[in-house]
Amino acid sequence: MIKRFAVAHGIKTMAVLLLLVVFSCARQKYDLEEIRRRAEAFDREITLSWYETDNYGKPSRISEIYERYEDLFTDEALIRFVGSKLEGQSDELQRRRLNYLQGFLIDEFIGLRVGDLDDRVLDLQAQATLSLANQEVAFRDVYGELFNSSDRQWRRQVHEARSSFIRERINPHFMERLKIQRETIQKYGFKDYGDFQDQIHEADFEKLSNLCEELLYETELIYHRLLEETAERTLGLDLHEIRIYDRPRLFRGQSFDAHFPGDRMVPLLENTLEDMGIQLEDQDNIDLDVEDRPEKEPRPACYIISVPDDIRVLVKPMGGAEDYESLFHEMGHAQHYAHTAVPEFEFRVLGEDGVTEAYAFLFENLFMDDVYLIERVGLTEETALAYLRQALLADLSSLRYYCALFLFERQLHAGLEKPWQVYRDLWERARLTRMSLPEAQADHLMANEDFYSVGYLEAWLLEAQLREILRDRYGPQWFSDPRTGELLKELWSLGSARTVSELSRELGYERLNAAALRRQAERIYRLTGEHHG
Ligand SMILES: [Zn+2]
Repeated sequence: MIKRFAVAHGIKTMAVLLLLVVFSCARQKYDLEEIRRRAEAFDREITLSWYETDNYGKPSRISEIYERYEDLFTDEALIRFVGSKLEGQSDELQRRRLNYLQGFLIDEFIGLRVGDLDDRVLDLQAQATLSLANQEVAFRDVYGELFNSSDRQWRRQVHEARSSFIRERINPHFMERLKIQRETIQKYGFKDYGDFQDQIHEADFEKLSNLCEELLYETELIYHRLLEETAERTLGLDLHEIRIYDRPRLFRGQSFDAHFPGDRMVPLLENTLEDMGIQLEDQDNIDLDVEDRPEKEPRPACYIISVPDDIRVLVKPMGGAEDYESLFHEMGHAQHYAHTAVPEFEFRVLGEDGVTEAYAFLFENLFMDDVYLIERVGLTEETALAYLRQALLADLSSLRYYCALFLFERQLHAGLEKPWQVYRDLWERARLTRMSLPEAQADHLMANEDFYSVGYLEAWLLEAQLREILRDRYGPQWFSDPRTGELLKELWSLGSARTVSELSRELGYERLNAAALRRQAERIYRLTGEHHG
């Protein structure tokens, strides 16, 4: 899914002043239903503009749209009005709605103020070139160099050049951004940005921190062993010798892309949905666009233009495991929104990211299921198991990274002095790879995603529970059982009205915890280990 509202552009101060003057004359200034209606209309227009730019190369209309809706995002009194409604509300569901709405408005309010800085950082990354001893490397090609070059010395040099560029040229913008974000959020009575996010998420951040500790602990042994054997096999290095600039090559491993041909990707998706009782071709509200246009973005994407009636999924079927996973992930989002049947804007369009990400992960993680890989993708057992072992390492590595990132962001936004020291410690602990302080200084602000980690972490946990329930109830072929489709449709119809924790309890779990996820990791580890001796 396209991360909504990610771009904000400069505002016209004069127009804002004018609007405030005009509005202040009216007696009944704000109407909640009108705010909701305009927020939804704004969201629709922004998403449509993204869609047209990414897929037809049309010029972006983002700043023009912001100007037309700026009364929503530049008027502090309007946000306070929504806040006052929230304070006076005792009904739990109404409170949740107002909470999501207020969170959305405040985030946009901040977005408008940091939009220019975000643009500058994006431009720097897109245009910068790093000068090395005898060669120039574009900043955006660094990852490719680290991934492709077998020359370890070269990888280290490229990585160091990138780090100093970030420290000197990019980080000052990030520091400024944090400062603006902090000052703005304090105006609304929150201690810091983390406190704000803690209040709009139903998950208590203190409990989520404990869950991250639990996840790091529960997955450490398997991750340690997989990393060790992969480092030895692919790089001939001991665990303690691996550095950041070696890591991209760990995941290069054995390529399985030939087993995931481009022309079989969309038919596999259609057949998988059909087995669950979903006829994609009959879903008028999902437009699956497979056309090959030069201006179309290569990565699969889902645009939620209007829920539930206008969802667009775009793909240029190139093939390769990653392309399959991305398309299935995006289709998970699409099905969730297309089946949403609640009337409230906040529960159709806003809500906790973890809910929709869990459904996206469920589809993406079909490629972490041995039975699916063998029976549906058509891999031999040997290939399936080798693929799975590599996929498990990548999955645990990224899960552990998000745990560290969440724990770090809480401290970063709280205004910790020298936050890179904490970043280094958490990163080393999560990834079992050494990081120097200058490296941490370079990366700690680049890493910050303003708590999007919360959605991913909750989705990881919820999806593992959901998948476990489906397998327990409907057996190893759960993915081709129409009852799976029935259960999913029921969950999807709720939109985002339920929180991740509530869904976990409704599935029969006592709480959201790491147990199901650990059981799945152990299962794959054992299953694939028999072949590795
Ligand atoms: Zn997603």
